[in-house]
Parts: sequence; C-alpha cells; structure tokens
Amino acid sequence: MIDIDKIRGEFPILGIEINNRALIYLDNAATTQKPRCVVEKIEQGYYSCNANIHRGVHTLSQKATMAHEEARETVRAFINAAHSKEIIFTRGTTESINLVASSFGESLNEGDEILISTMEHHANIVPWQILAQRRSLKLNVINITSSGELDMDSFRSLLSEKTKLVAIAHVSNVLGTINPISDIIEAAHLVGAKVLVDGAQSIAHLPTDVQSLDVDFYVFSGHKLYAPNGIGVLYGKADLLDSMPPYQSGGEMISRVTFEKTTYNELPFKFEAGTPDYIGSTALAEAIRYVQSIGLDNISKYEDELLEYCMSKLVEFDNIRFFGTAKHKSAVISFLIGNIHHYDMGMLLDKLGIAVRTGHHCAQPLMQHFGIEGTVRASFSFYNTKSEIDKFIEALKRVVTILE
Ligand code: PMP
Repeated sequence: MIDIDKIRGEFPILGIEINNRALIYLDNAATTQKPRCVVEKIEQGYYSCNANIHRGVHTLSQKATMAHEEARETVRAFINAAHSKEIIFTRGTTESINLVASSFGESLNEGDEILISTMEHHANIVPWQILAQRRSLKLNVINITSSGELDMDSFRSLLSEKTKLVAIAHVSNVLGTINPISDIIEAAHLVGAKVLVDGAQSIAHLPTDVQSLDVDFYVFSGHKLYAPNGIGVLYGKADLLDSMPPYQSGGEMISRVTFEKTTYNELPFKFEAGTPDYIGSTALAEAIRYVQSIGLDNISKYEDELLEYCMSKLVEFDNIRFFGTAKHKSAVISFLIGNIHHYDMGMLLDKLGIAVRTGHHCAQPLMQHFGIEGTVRASFSFYNTKSEIDKFIEALKRVVTILE
C-alpha cells in the first residue's frame, strides 16, 4: 500500500509553487525528485564522512571507504548480482554504455553485428554507431509495431551468428513499452551474442534480478531512482568484465605502475579510474533503501493505476494521438492533440504549474519512424496522485481551447 501523504511529505520540492500554482511534476522519466533522506545523506557524508577513499590509513578515510563499499553491496543486493565486484560505479547510464562500447567493443571485429531497436534513447544508439565506424561493424535495428512494441519477427530475422551484442532498453522512455528482455536474452545467448539492457527507465519502476534474467550487462542512472545526479551503475558478469580492457586510466584502476609497464587492479576498481563519487554512491544506497521501504511491487501497482486513470481521461480528447500503446507498459504517456505543437502545449502547461516534457526525448530515430518532430510526455512516479491527474486534465482542456 502507498501512504501518499507520508510519501509526499518526504519530498519538499512537491510543496513548491511554479508560476503561482502548486507544482505538478510529471517529468519523472527525465529525472526524479529526491526524498529528504537522500539529501540528508549527502549532507551527512560531507559533514561527517568526507575523506578520499581506498588509500588512506586514517580513520576517516577508512570510514568513507567502508560506506562506499557498503553502498556497492546495497546495489548488488538490489539487482541481485552474484558479486559486488560486478557493480561498477559510473556517472550514469550514458557513461555505462560508453564504457561497454569502448571496452567490450575492443573484442569486436570487421563484419560483426550489433543489434539495437528503433525505440532506443540516443545514449543506446550513438556509442554503438561510433564503435561500428571505428571497427567496421554493422549496426542493425529491430522494427517496432504500430502500438510501439518490439517486432519480435524483425528481432529474430536480424539475429544471427554474426550478432555479437544486443543492446536494448528494458522500458522505452518515450513509449513506456516494457520489452520482453528475458526472451531477447535467451534468444541472443543461443547464437552466442551478449546482451546489454538499458535499465534507465525500469530501475525505479520494476523489480530487477540480473541473475534470473541472465543478462550480461545492465545499466542505469541514480538520478532516475531518487538518487543524486552524477552517479550510476554498470552491472556486468564478472568473467566478462575480467576479460575486458580498462576504459579510463589513472589512479585507483592500477595494481602497479612503472614507466615500463602497468598492471591493472582487480574488479571492480579496474573500471573506476580516479576518485570515485563516494558521496553519490552512499546517497544512491540511501535512495535504494527508500524505494525498498515502499516496495517495488507496490510502486509498480500504484503507478499502473495512475497510468490507467490518466489514459481513461486522455482518451476523451478529440484528435488525440498516443505514441506507445503496448499491452505491457509503464507509466509514461506520449501524445499529440490535433495540430497543436508539443512545445506550445508544454509552455502553456508550465504556466499552470505543470511540468511535462516536450520534444524528441533523445529518441530522434523513433520520432522519424512516426514522422513527427516530438511529443508531449507525461511520466509518473509513486508520489503523483489522481488529484494531480485531474488538474493536469483540466489544464490540458484550457490549453487546447487556447491553442486550437
Ligand atoms: N536510456 C534511457 C532509456 C533514458 O531514458 C535515458 C535518460 N533519459 C538514458 C538512457 C540516459 O540517461 P543519463 O542521461 O542519465 O545517462
């Protein structure tokens, strides 16, 4: 059960006004707001546990090191990885994907193929494109259906022994589609391909178990999980990470350096060059504990109710077009009404205190697929309410009357 009043009280920002109206924040797919406990954890870190980690003999450094490594263990347990050394801290989803593209990418050779889909975020397109150019690989793209689901026939027809990596979103940030990643992983493994799942849009909404998925790489950003910006995770299977060369180099990632030769540190440190964001990691662990205290099953059930409620109101609008009507989807709604420009709609909604996202959502190829420039996107969190949805619908009616 979601205790909505208690929850909202834990997010101070939800009490502010925007343009003299109570803020209604429906841009959770872009970033989530932070509960008080997470912000306090950051403050506490800097006020009582701040010293550079791993190298210090002094007590404060050891305390900070312990907090950072405990955070790694919290992340491990959250996604049920087998070992905490399989958890690499990065700056976020984008850096995690770039790490895999640069490092795992070294093992790919001319003629090898990488498979992505039409609904990917630019972060899961461009690193593969650059890698493909660098190493003469082929990038194949899985089609989607008119309801915004992966076309599994297209997937199967593109998958072959040449496919070395499938890189796919767990949940689309535009369509909300929840992809059948278990089936994809199973099929990919049958042809010997590895699978990277972009969990940016799923991590805060669905339970994740990397072992039962048998996924090779799973990536996400802390800021979409109620944690601060600038911290994220790359999960990778230990044997795979062990076989990969370092991504960035410098301090922390070495075992021994001489001018003639350097040997590298063991996992996970081999992939964490430089001073890590140990305050960010502990705040991420706090956010995870917070989410766990509510329960991901409760969260996903409640957000599904919000999705259903909002959709039942939106379908009443004349000439509304939805982008993403998959059977299995998370609480993200992309739409356009008549010929109204998404930007105009977003601007006017903002005047009424409502934060939605407009534009291409870093998914320009998906926009090209639909023949549009952008959409209006409302995306929900467990701190949103049906009463906020009512106000959003009222505001939308006013905006449509003005703009039509
Ligand atoms: N993939 C998806 C599906 C996303 O929604 C996002 C963020 N919008 C990203 C990747 C990139 O995340 P970040 O900017 O935090 O690295």
